[in-house]
Amino acid sequence: MITMHYLQCISCGNRYEPDEIVYRCSCGSILEAVIDLDGAKNIFDGNNMSVWKYQPFLPVRRRASLNEGGTPLYPAENLKRDIGYRRLYVKNEGENPTCSFKDRGMTVGVSKAMELGMKKVACASTGNTSASLAAYSAHAALSCYVMIPSGKIALGKLAQAIVYGAKVIPIKGNFDQALEAVMEASRRFNIYLLNSINPYRLEGQKTIAYEIFDQLQEVPDRIILPVGNAGNISAIWKGFKELKAAGFIDRLPVMTGIQAQGSMPMVRMFAEELSELIPEASPETVATAIRIGNPVSWQKAINAVRESGGLMESVTDDEILAAQRTLASREGIFVEPASASSVAGLLKLQGQGAIDEDETTVLVTTGHGLKDPNVVIDSIQIMDPVDGDMDTMRTLVGE
Ligand SMILES: *Cc1c(COP(=O)(O)O)cnc(C)c1O
Ligand SMILES: [Zn+2]
Repeated sequence: MITMHYLQCISCGNRYEPDEIVYRCSCGSILEAVIDLDGAKNIFDGNNMSVWKYQPFLPVRRRASLNEGGTPLYPAENLKRDIGYRRLYVKNEGENPTCSFKDRGMTVGVSKAMELGMKKVACASTGNTSASLAAYSAHAALSCYVMIPSGKIALGKLAQAIVYGAKVIPIKGNFDQALEAVMEASRRFNIYLLNSINPYRLEGQKTIAYEIFDQLQEVPDRIILPVGNAGNISAIWKGFKELKAAGFIDRLPVMTGIQAQGSMPMVRMFAEELSELIPEASPETVATAIRIGNPVSWQKAINAVRESGGLMESVTDDEILAAQRTLASREGIFVEPASASSVAGLLKLQGQGAIDEDETTVLVTTGHGLKDPNVVIDSIQIMDPVDGDMDTMRTLVGE
C-alpha cells in the first residue's frame, strides 16, 4: 500500500512534493510530513511490534530495515514501589539495532534516500545519529559521512560509526557548528542530509507513540523524555496526534521534556514563555546526546509541550548520574546519561509536587548504557584485589 503524503511548512503552510529534496521552507521554517491515515483499521492489535508494522502510516515506498522498533515497555515494578507510583513504565529504546531510538528515524530516512536515488548520505551528530546512519547506509550500500564535534563523543558511538564503515569527520567546535558544516556540504555536494531537520526521520520516530499505545492498549497520561535537538518529543507528539485524528484514541498524553542544566534552551523558553528560542552558546553536560545549544526542532517541540499542557524541566549532571544508577540497580535497565535524565526529571518533578503519582507515566529511555561506559567507570572505585580464601570471601559476601 502506498501512503499519500506531502511536506508542509509548520509556519506558513507552504507545501512541497515528496520527490523534492528540501529540508527547510523558503520562509526559513521547518517542514513536516502530512499523512493520509486511511486504510489501517486493525493495526493496533498488541502483537508483533516494529517500526514497519505501521507501514501504512509511513511516507516511503522503499525499505532499508534492520528490524528496528518493537522495543520492550517495562513495568518498573521496583522503582514504582520505591517512589509510590501505581503505573510507571520504561520504554527502552536502547534495545534497537544500534542501541538508540535513532534507528526508527534512520530506517525511514535511509529508505527515503534510496527512493530519491541518492548515493551519499551525511549527518552531524553527538554520536547516536552517526552510529545509526552508519549502520543503515551500510545496509543500503550508500556512502556515509558523519561530522562529529571534536573530542566530545562517547566511545561506544564512535566505535559503531567506524566499524559500520562511515567516513568520520571531526569538526572543530560543538554540535551546532558541525550541523552548519554538514548542511552546507549537503547542499553543495549532492548528499542527502539525515539530521533530524529531515522530516522523514521524525516519521520513523513517531512509531514510539504508536507502539506505546499498541502495548498499553490505552493512552498514558504522561510521557517523559530527554530533549536535545527536540526532534523526538515532536515526533512522539505527532504520532499521538495522528492516532487521535484517525479516531484510534480519544485523548492525548501530556508531554514532559527534560534537559540538562548546562544545556537547557528549551527549558528557558518554556519557563519564560518566549516566542523564539534563544540558543545556548556553550552547552555543557555529561549527557552528551543532549548537549545541544540550538535545537533545530524547537518550534515543533514547544508546540508539543504547550498544546499537551506539558512542561519542560532541567536536571543536574549529578541527578542524571544518580538516576542512571537507580534505574540500573533497581530495574536492571542500563541506559546512557541522556536517557537517565527522564528518570531524574520524574524524581525532581515528583519532589516538587508538579506531577501526580496516580498518572500512568511512560519514561522513554533513549539509548543504551554501554554507549558511554566511561561515565560509569570514571565515577566508581573498585576495591583493591584480595586473596580468594574463604575467610575473606565470608566477610565480603556478608555470611
Ligand atoms: C538523540 C538523542 C536524544 C535527544 O533526542 P532529540 O530528538 O535530539 O531531542 C536523547 N537521548 C539519546 C540517547 C539520543 O541519542
Ligand atoms: Zn514556510
